[in-house]
Amino acid sequence: MKVNTSRLNLMILLSASALALSACNNMSKNINNEIQNVGTSPYTNCSFDASASSEVFDTVIINGRVMDPECDFDGQRNVGIKNGEIALITAGEITGKEVIDAKDHVVAPGFINTHSHSFAPFEQRMMAHDGTTTILDTELGVSNVNIFYDKYKDNSLLNYGSGISHEEVRRVVMDGLTQEQTSDPTFATISRGLAEKKNSRNWSLSIATPNQHEEILKMYDQGMRDGAITVNSTYGYMGYSVPTYEIFDLQKMAKKYNRYFGAHTRFGTIESLPKNYSLGVREVVANAVALDGALILSHIQSQNWPESYELCRRFQEQGKDMFCEYYPSIYGTPNIATPQLLPDKIKLNNGDPTKMIIDPRTGKYFESWESFFALQKEKPAEVVFIEMRDKKWEKQWVHMKDIALANDVITTLTPEGKVLPEDTDPSEYGGHPRNARTYSYIFRMAREEGLPLMHTVYNAAYTPAKYFSKVGLFQKRGRLQPGMIADITIFHPENIADAATLKIGERGFFSKGIPYVMVGGSLVVNNGKDTLGMRPGQPIRYDVITEGEVSSELNDKKYQWHADLPGYDESRHTYPTPKPHDHEH
Ligand SMILES: [Zn+2]
Repeated sequence: MKVNTSRLNLMILLSASALALSACNNMSKNINNEIQNVGTSPYTNCSFDASASSEVFDTVIINGRVMDPECDFDGQRNVGIKNGEIALITAGEITGKEVIDAKDHVVAPGFINTHSHSFAPFEQRMMAHDGTTTILDTELGVSNVNIFYDKYKDNSLLNYGSGISHEEVRRVVMDGLTQEQTSDPTFATISRGLAEKKNSRNWSLSIATPNQHEEILKMYDQGMRDGAITVNSTYGYMGYSVPTYEIFDLQKMAKKYNRYFGAHTRFGTIESLPKNYSLGVREVVANAVALDGALILSHIQSQNWPESYELCRRFQEQGKDMFCEYYPSIYGTPNIATPQLLPDKIKLNNGDPTKMIIDPRTGKYFESWESFFALQKEKPAEVVFIEMRDKKWEKQWVHMKDIALANDVITTLTPEGKVLPEDTDPSEYGGHPRNARTYSYIFRMAREEGLPLMHTVYNAAYTPAKYFSKVGLFQKRGRLQPGMIADITIFHPENIADAATLKIGERGFFSKGIPYVMVGGSLVVNNGKDTLGMRPGQPIRYDVITEGEVSSELNDKKYQWHADLPGYDESRHTYPTPKPHDHEH
């Protein structure tokens, strides 16, 4: 996809390379302030003072500082785990077959990453060391969820889930790719490449014909029936080729099934419209409001984040199912020899290797223009990091409330298109360090900013669970309460820190200060050590719907303007005439 090169506009190369009744008795004491958050799960149980028990648990976590954002609980307790669930929380003594002494450590609900495209074994291992217990793709996703869930069944370290992908569905319908080629976000770059190879980029460059539009909706409908967690769209990569009615129809689809619409909106940093506007965000927000639909705004740092954040907060205050997400990085990651960085172009694009481009050999700015051009000549495929966003924003982002934290990293593949094996040495990982250090990085920065610990625990674990609970998922996760599934992250509040850097050889370094991570009661990080080969990850998925038929009918004709007109001729409904590839400039 071509981009406007009149300014340093490299985001295209990156983001992709870049989803009651309450027993709680202290609802009013919500640390995350004015917004009501309790009552989203029928399993909410704020009882942290059970009496001691003589029962022998599978695992007990003793002496830890138990933190639960939903109940706003923060106190030293012992936790008993049985059959993969938190059975008991008490100040009394308990015993277990396995004992974890969590003295001086926080015992928190496992971190839920709402936006990742990395389901490969080594990438999951890095994320486990960063405290992650669940990875979801609510933004890119897959064309066929059965293929995705079958592939990771009993074959995933962490809990996993995906929505239906707009671009993958479009590549099936409009570029002739197969569902097998387009049903694992880990291989999204390959899927994009396959379309390129066929010289068929209709998914990104063409407006769907009325028939294709119908096919796209039918594939989504099938995906919803198959249990996809979200309706996704990365239409920020499709420029002007996605008419507003296509997005409106996808949001109606999400509403039809009462699920979230996950949006990488248009007019973000990769396009030629002003970067600091949130025009694309307004489009999906308007649809969500009209439909009373659920909405996730992906990586709001790309769409004028202060404004997008305020939109989220104001709608949250009104009780709407809407949340924002961000990932902690100011860098884009193009190849060093990408056209915009070649000697004749880089100055035109306002690039300066000594002020904004990181030398992968040192992890610091290039020493000189000469050393930059020398590396460009010598290793044109080398990935470099370019500062795309204001550095001070990183510190501001950690202050945002009730926002999901994600990494949004696409899996690093070998030149043969293979994933790194699980036992890869971390020094061999060459992808974005964010994959190894999203949560540790945010916790470290939040500490430096003096934020209360509960603030960050809330965002890391509870925000996604809270919002997904409203539509029937995550009712027993994202909470450190009796009766919840034992997805647990144990970290040291002063020592939790990132170790991965931008330097080659250090990008996969595991985060520090997170000695224990438990997925469904199984330790995937045990006293800081790996437990290679374990696959306790569970699918996050809606129940499959078998009755009824796949249909693109969105059942709300009464709202369509022509529904009021007697004898309206449907054939006069206007679609733009598709002119393939007429959007390149
Ligand atoms: Zn994106």
